[in-house]
Amino acid sequence: MNSTPETFPVAKSEDEWRRELTPEEYQVLRQAGTERPYTGEYCDTHTAGVYRCRACGDELFTSQEKFDSHCGWPSFWAPLAEGKVRYLRDSALGMERIEVRCANCNSHLGHVFEGEGYSTPTDQRYCINSVSLKLEPKQDEAP
Ligand SMILES: [Zn+2]
Repeated sequence: MNSTPETFPVAKSEDEWRRELTPEEYQVLRQAGTERPYTGEYCDTHTAGVYRCRACGDELFTSQEKFDSHCGWPSFWAPLAEGKVRYLRDSALGMERIEVRCANCNSHLGHVFEGEGYSTPTDQRYCINSVSLKLEPKQDEAP
């Protein structure tokens, strides 16, 4: 057993998070909520860019790994880099799932599933709440 409290580069009290985030963001990011499917602003987004953590601003995913999973949430087949996210076993709702959190601030992002048969390089689906992300569109490149 590890008795040392976990620490993260960005550590704020729940009061601070509650002040800085909207109620919807707080519920998903800090209370592991899930936005309703097909309602998130990035569900069908194909804009090129980088997806940052809505809570701390760290870069987590890019549009290059985003794919159309038709599951109702933005889906990626890999994070921007290993180490950007952390994984936790989640047995809530009677299902064994792998929760995905931001490694920088420990905010909830979504879940990762694998072996579903998607034709992506990893056959993994990072099923991420739009409200946990902030898309930073890529600057137009000079012609
Ligand atoms: Zn974060």
